[in-house]
Amino acid sequence: MEVAEAKQLVCDAGKRLLASGLVEGTWGNISLRVDDTTMVITPSGKNYEDLTPEDMVIVNLKTLKYDGDLKPSTECGLHAEIYKDRKAVNAVIHTHSLHGCTVAAARKEIPPILDDMVQIIGPSIRVADYAISGTKKLTKNVIKALKGRNGALLANHGTICIGRSIDEAFVTCRVLEKACRIFIDVQNIGGATQINKIEAIAMHQYYLRKYSKQQ
Ligand code: 13P
Ligand code: ZN
Repeated sequence: MEVAEAKQLVCDAGKRLLASGLVEGTWGNISLRVDDTTMVITPSGKNYEDLTPEDMVIVNLKTLKYDGDLKPSTECGLHAEIYKDRKAVNAVIHTHSLHGCTVAAARKEIPPILDDMVQIIGPSIRVADYAISGTKKLTKNVIKALKGRNGALLANHGTICIGRSIDEAFVTCRVLEKACRIFIDVQNIGGATQINKIEAIAMHQYYLRKYSKQQ
């Protein structure tokens, strides 16, 4: 993928995220892997409404050195480590969405309760242990929570979703937000009944290998 195309895709995703209510103001961040050594990421502390593709920051995945005057997101190190840990992942989205943050504040792991959640995210949504944003500790905790999953919560902070493409990561954000909302609401009618854990694992594997593929 060309850098210019990646900048456009990341910028568009930022605006879509704002329009879908998954981020507030300048919070949250998005990145896309360009090649083995490069990613494009949103700049730190800039309003999504005002972003242009030129504002997106090119960052070296190994050194975290960046081009231009705008500082990359404070979660730049976290995004880079995810790309190094997960070779199939090409997009990372971090949000401070309402229902995601509610469950993250309660620090409750979501068990396998919904078909789409299980297929797209995995057999549970874990909560990464708390650490201050932008730290190596947070990176370590998030990588652990994402093992075998395409999404996780960050204790008392927000959400993280990953995907093979930016569209896939975006859908994952929406499915995770929906799962968090249902996880909260279902308490009012006696709590959820879980999907069998083994079936949940198989469903996620099916989604990764077969779903939407031609053969
Ligand atoms: P940035 O504006 O630096 O991306 O930080 C926002 C955020 O969500 C930190 O966790
Ligand atoms: Zn954040």
